Amino acid sequence: MQMGSRTCQNCKQGFVIEQDDFTFYEHIKVPPPTWCPECRMKRRMVFRQERALFKRKCGLCEKDIITMYHPDADIIVYCNECWWSDKWDPTEYGTDYDFGKPFFVQFAELLKRVPKMALEAYQNEGSPYTNYTWISKNVYLSSSVIYSENISYCHGTTRCQDSMDSTYLYDSQLCYGSQDCQRCANAVYLTDCRECLDSAFLYDCRGCRNCFMSSNLRNKSYVFRNQELSKEEYERRMSELGLGDRVAFQALIPEYEALRTKAIHRFASLFKTVNATGNNLINAKNARYCFTGEDLENVSYGIRVIEAKDSADLYGVGNGAELLYDGVNVGYRDSLIRFSTNTFEDIRDATYCDYCRTSQNIFGCAGLRKKQYHILNKPYSKEEYESMIPKIIEHMNAMPYKDEKGRTYAFGEFFPAEFSPFAYNESIAQEYYPVTKEKAIESGFRWGVSVPREYRVTKDPGQLPRDIKNVSDSITEETIRCAHNGSCEHQCTTAFRILESELQFYRRMHLPLPWLCPNCRHYERIEYRNPLNIRLWRRSCMCNGSDHGHPERCPNEFETPYAPDRPEVVYCEECYQKEVV
Ligand SMILES: [Zn+2]
Ligand SMILES: [Zn+2]
Ligand SMILES: [Zn+2]
Ligand SMILES: [Zn+2]
Ligand SMILES: [Zn+2]
Repeated sequence: MQMGSRTCQNCKQGFVIEQDDFTFYEHIKVPPPTWCPECRMKRRMVFRQERALFKRKCGLCEKDIITMYHPDADIIVYCNECWWSDKWDPTEYGTDYDFGKPFFVQFAELLKRVPKMALEAYQNEGSPYTNYTWISKNVYLSSSVIYSENISYCHGTTRCQDSMDSTYLYDSQLCYGSQDCQRCANAVYLTDCRECLDSAFLYDCRGCRNCFMSSNLRNKSYVFRNQELSKEEYERRMSELGLGDRVAFQALIPEYEALRTKAIHRFASLFKTVNATGNNLINAKNARYCFTGEDLENVSYGIRVIEAKDSADLYGVGNGAELLYDGVNVGYRDSLIRFSTNTFEDIRDATYCDYCRTSQNIFGCAGLRKKQYHILNKPYSKEEYESMIPKIIEHMNAMPYKDEKGRTYAFGEFFPAEFSPFAYNESIAQEYYPVTKEKAIESGFRWGVSVPREYRVTKDPGQLPRDIKNVSDSITEETIRCAHNGSCEHQCTTAFRILESELQFYRRMHLPLPWLCPNCRHYERIEYRNPLNIRLWRRSCMCNGSDHGHPERCPNEFETPYAPDRPEVVYCEECYQKEVV
């Protein structure tokens, strides 16, 4: 096999399969994909919903539960305690494989019957209101959180403490409104920063302390609006700003946005990487089209992948895993998981599975724990299993599933999006690839309606005390209207409350009370995060610097997530290093 151009079965655009991809497909015994990388990413993202929590009853103990599944979703949901208990047996749902109908139809029937866990939560303490959170303590309304403590309204924190309203933090503490930061502390509105302390409104700074509204700094202190000051002068100006005042704070946000746009942008944020393309990567070797990842080797087309090797086509996976392909929320000490969702913890060889744990050689299974050699939740002997699998694959190719749009799903396709318990607009697909309702339906996705809210709003955001120093403890009893009040596409919850721990955080950090609900805050933050997909553009360096030893215009080219029509000034590695270090 060799490099090949294909036409995407879904969007009908051309895409290229590279030699490395073919080698990988051969190694894990799957055919080359028929959908382009972005259509594949979108399709799997529909199977992950991070931002909405609903009330339902546990299908077993019948107590009220908080879950990621909409009350109208036609599935069985158990509270996590019941799900993990011996009070039910997933093999009771086992069925014979029926060679008279497509595999995907049989699997969809199984998915509807086998109970799902209310929340994706694993080894947490004191965190009933959080989803996709693992090995963490006191986490509230956050997602993609691991090894962290005292985290609220965050998305993507790894080994962090005491932080709020932030996106993709690593090894950081006391962060607020920050994104893509590593080893930062006491940090307010920092983006793409490393090892910065006691600072606010910084873009692309490293090793800085006591800096404000500045960009591209290295190892500096007391820099205020990119101007170096004495300690006394810096402190005087900072106290004049009065960051605890909402109006003063809000006025800084457009200034910060302009600062970020004007700064010099490295073509991509790659830290300790070798032979890597993508963005926001830390420690990566041979990574292609990877975004927001840490500790990767031979990984391609992945978003939010941690500690994985020899894997491809992933969202939200990793933690000591290898040979993962086309999965979402898979991987934790695993080897070989193909086309699966929510399946991890010592898995060996799982294909087309959902919510399976600690199992080996399983195909088309849901909800299994500590099982081996199962197909559609039914046990087989090793010999029977090994002779069945090739027959099923052959049958999947001879009798593929066809959806209403005429797309065919043979062996090698991920689950059709219509099998997801989530609507497009509930899922993270809407964050990465936002579309209108009409467009989503036209593309064959489901569009969901939100559950009517029953809040009794007691305060409008305009009625909140302007300065944090005037906020009394009774604020935690109020229900505050979100300033967007549902008029946006942010999964706005229309109202919000302030927790006691949250109030303490604002006081400690001298921050004003928020004026938007947590979802609106999240969407406003990620609006400036580039990119929110897995696309790269071949562009040339924009440097015209005369003292860089290159002709008037630098001739270097690179793969960058900055689309050609973006306003940022984007430099190649050499010119960037000459300018900012
Ligand atoms: Zn496509
Ligand atoms: Zn809102
Ligand atoms: Zn909004
Ligand atoms: Zn250059
Ligand atoms: Zn240059």
